[in-house]
Amino acid sequence: GIGGTVEYRIDLFDADTIETLIARFERVLAAITADPARPLSRIDVLDQDEHAQFDRLGNRPALSSPAPPATSITGLFGAHVAQTPDAVAVSYQGGSLSYRSLDEASNQLAHKLSALGAAPGTRVAMLLNRSPEAVIAIMAVLKTGAAYVPIDPVVPDERVRFILGDARPLAVVTSAEHASRLDGADLPVIDVHDADIAAQPVTAPATTVLPDDTAYLIYTSGTTGKPKGVAVTHHNVTQLLSTLDAGLPKPGVWALCHSLAFDVSVWEIFGALLRGGRVVVVGDTVVGSPEEFHDVLVRERVTVLTQTPSAVGMLSPDGLEHTALVVVGEACRPEVVDRWAPGRLMINAYGPTETTMCVTISAPLAPGHTVPIGSPVDRAALFVLDEWLRPVPAGVVGELYVAGDGVAHGYVDRPGLTATRFVACPFGGSGTRMYRTGDLVRWGADGQLQYLGRADEQVKVRGYRIELGEIQTALAALDGVDQAAVIAREDRPG
Ligand code: AMP
Ligand code: MG
Repeated sequence: GIGGTVEYRIDLFDADTIETLIARFERVLAAITADPARPLSRIDVLDQDEHAQFDRLGNRPALSSPAPPATSITGLFGAHVAQTPDAVAVSYQGGSLSYRSLDEASNQLAHKLSALGAAPGTRVAMLLNRSPEAVIAIMAVLKTGAAYVPIDPVVPDERVRFILGDARPLAVVTSAEHASRLDGADLPVIDVHDADIAAQPVTAPATTVLPDDTAYLIYTSGTTGKPKGVAVTHHNVTQLLSTLDAGLPKPGVWALCHSLAFDVSVWEIFGALLRGGRVVVVGDTVVGSPEEFHDVLVRERVTVLTQTPSAVGMLSPDGLEHTALVVVGEACRPEVVDRWAPGRLMINAYGPTETTMCVTISAPLAPGHTVPIGSPVDRAALFVLDEWLRPVPAGVVGELYVAGDGVAHGYVDRPGLTATRFVACPFGGSGTRMYRTGDLVRWGADGQLQYLGRADEQVKVRGYRIELGEIQTALAALDGVDQAAVIAREDRPG
């Protein structure tokens, strides 16, 4: 045998760490001598206990444990309509809609859309601002079995055209305000206030919606210059929201304050409607004014507020003692926690659009700590891997891969891109897929994940996801520009 001693700096390492390193080194030496031809990348530095620990922390059993029966969004919503038809489902500027009225109004629009051909496997685009009508329109499209394709009215005409061309919806639902932007689009344009909608039956359309039908298509920035549509199913949504707890009040009063083209709005709408709660629709001008926004939150007694850390930084926590805060979409600085966590439930939720809203939720955040992104939600299994898809040791940075019931079908009509990001999962049964997030993370000593940044050139600007490559490609396409470099820069950091 070979003997030796290890010397180390006691101001940097403790004895346990060094013993772990020695054990790993011995395992590597033993593996090399046992099979000198084996590539280094196939040597496992972790022992059985460590593998078992990551399986537990990452919730690997979710991949083999029996799933609860799959449900559709419309099915779960229908159960609440039956249970509490008179409860308020949506409120907006003093007005409100009960579960029954939301159900009936969306049935009417659904009949009209079905007559145009809306059915499972088809798509209906929506060019609408946040409004009660938009919530009705979303429910209506879902009831036909079609997927809704939200387009934020703030985007330029060219982007509207791109999405319509790419998603090939059979109709667009819009409002009088935006209808003219669809002149020239060769497809039926339906104004949510069209008179003949009210003449349709209030009973449910006959379509059967299956949990595996696509519920929505959300477009995200693409490196090659073209955004790609992520197809998310009913089940992707219900698997998260039907069992969601995280200490959030139930039934809660949820503020809807994000673009319908960002999946945080799905969380806000259905976090309320699939748990018997109320959605408070907050319009654009109010969201743009921290004072007015604050007034609405207090007046409507909102109990669940979801925000990007940048946006919540502008808001005053005073008077919102009964409001739980969920921060999402981008890394949260400790200062935000220092300001908001005292005296209220504050949690951090993380997840890419491709894995449906969120796949990790933190324990309640407390001031004075690093801000973890948390632990897997019930039906998600998470793996922190190196470039050969092997789990990395605790504390070591790896890339986060997500498997489980939130993983979306993939990108619409982009089989190549889908295959590079949605890959076979070696930790589940055959056919299990996992999504490669591009996010760098590590397991913390508290058993929660810490977010450390990106492995690529994707950035977030106030929670909005942008591939720098998309902008570079657009710039390089301009006359007189050969090459372009784009960075995200803060004039005043923080
Ligand atoms: P999106 O598809 O727009 O939800 O963007 C997903 C990306 O946003 C993730 O891959 C992360 O890079 C980032 N992200 C989302 N939530 C968080 C969070 N809570 N903390 C840090 N980064 C986040
Ligand atoms: Mg997200």
